[in-house]
Amino acid sequence: MVKVYNPKSLKEALNIRQNHLVTPYAGGTDLMVHPDPNQTYLFLNKIPEIKNIVEDSNYIRIGACCTFADILKSPIPPTILKDAINLLASPAIRNFGTPGGNICNCGGKKQTKGCKGCWNFGKSGGNICNGSDKSDSAVVFFATNSKLRIASSTTERIIPISDFYCCDRKDALATNELLLEILMDRNDYSNYYYKKVGARESVSLSRVAFAAIINIDSSNIITNLSTAFGAVSNVIISEKQIDKMLIGKTIDEAKKLKSAYLSAYERSVKAKEGRVSSNYRKSVCLNLLGDFLETKGI
Ligand SMILES: Cc1cc2nc3c(=O)[nH]c(=O)nc-3n(C[C@H](O)[C@H](O)[C@H](O)COP(=O)(O)OP(=O)(O)OC[C@H]3O[C@@H](n4cnc5c(N)ncnc54)[C@H](O)[C@@H]3O)c2cc1C
Repeated sequence: MVKVYNPKSLKEALNIRQNHLVTPYAGGTDLMVHPDPNQTYLFLNKIPEIKNIVEDSNYIRIGACCTFADILKSPIPPTILKDAINLLASPAIRNFGTPGGNICNCGGKKQTKGCKGCWNFGKSGGNICNGSDKSDSAVVFFATNSKLRIASSTTERIIPISDFYCCDRKDALATNELLLEILMDRNDYSNYYYKKVGARESVSLSRVAFAAIINIDSSNIITNLSTAFGAVSNVIISEKQIDKMLIGKTIDEAKKLKSAYLSAYERSVKAKEGRVSSNYRKSVCLNLLGDFLETKGI
């Protein structure tokens, strides 16, 4: 019979995680598609401390185990996140699925020799916690440079999502840790672009998902530009060095740099083969990027 721990507080959950080999789960929409009778599970859904959506002077704090439906109902998260969630799966899945599960979802990745996160796979009994590149909420968390708050019963750390979410990660979740919160800096995310290209309008995994934030000041200078592509490569693509080409430039200057910017992406995006061809994925990426720039007057 499947064994499940059902903690009612974060302290209790972290103690169980510290002392037992358990696989955490929240909504179960990924993990419980194929439950493993030989595993011991740690149910995170009854822990109030990691289900809140609140803001303080630094961050919008999204509890790893709030549901996507909670995010849609809350006035706090930015619209770009809600746009992505509105296209994620179906209402039934959004009622159970969580951003924590979306980020920690292994997406069927294979173990990689030398990767600490993958190495954890064997030990933690299935929870390798290196996010799937198809996790739609994570694409937005990349574009918004969000951070993750991670804890064990004795330690706590905050890391950029990009440090957690890469195939040869150095900072993947250890077997005694849980993801507690996603922290979004309290920046202006109102000038954004989000598109998901899938086979259908709903209940469709991304063929390509693209999120971008741009901030333009009153002198028409681009003060921030941050993009992210999901479902293109083995990890979410976020090319800070390329995006920097347009930061600090006026819109007119950015227009002149546009083709160099797009060419840099053309050289850098290495799209994978899968349900659709790598050529298709790459051209969709470049089309979305071009459309984003045009929409923003560049
Ligand atoms: C029909 C269907 C359609 C879907 N469509 C989409 C889609 O369009 N876009 C998309 O991105 N996803 C989609 N998904 C995938 C899934 O719904 C999401 O990834 C969801 O966010 C998972 O959240 P969960 O809470 O249910 O995760 P769970 O299944 O509970 O857990 C997933 C993984 O995360 C780990 N985990 C969960 N919470 C924590 C935590 N706090 N700390 C550490 N580890 C944790 C678990 O151990 C497990 O490895 C779909 C799934 C189904 C079944």
